[in-house]
Amino acid sequence: MASRFKTQSIKANKTYEVAELADAACVSIPTVRNWLKAGMQKVDDQRPTMIMGFQALEFLKTRKVKGKRPMAKGEFFCMRCKDRREPLGAMADYEQTSATGGRLKAFCAVCECPCNRNISARDLPNILKILDVAIRSSS
Ligand SMILES: [Zn+2]
Repeated sequence: MASRFKTQSIKANKTYEVAELADAACVSIPTVRNWLKAGMQKVDDQRPTMIMGFQALEFLKTRKVKGKRPMAKGEFFCMRCKDRREPLGAMADYEQTSATGGRLKAFCAVCECPCNRNISARDLPNILKILDVAIRSSS
């Protein structure tokens, strides 16, 4: 089940009725009712049901996280595809940017545009198992 909703126009300090929240989140009213059933907090038990923006945002934040599987170690987020992608040829460059981490650079396997990903140095050994990484020293 893809959960498509927007959180940009939900204001934390504003109180919303169900229909207003549906509007702000670009979803249908039944969707908002489902969120309430699924545990979204509301102001009180009075009618009409009122939801504070921050209550909705909090709920949707956890929902977003749950809906997404964590990015696999060898994957990149491609800004052009707006999705997770494998790097082209399973190859990447690693550039250390600090004592604890660095940047992996690769090309999207689908659109071939460059993708970067910051990783911590601790993750590097695992990534080396999956990808062919050229480690560049920043000397
Ligand atoms: Zn791409």
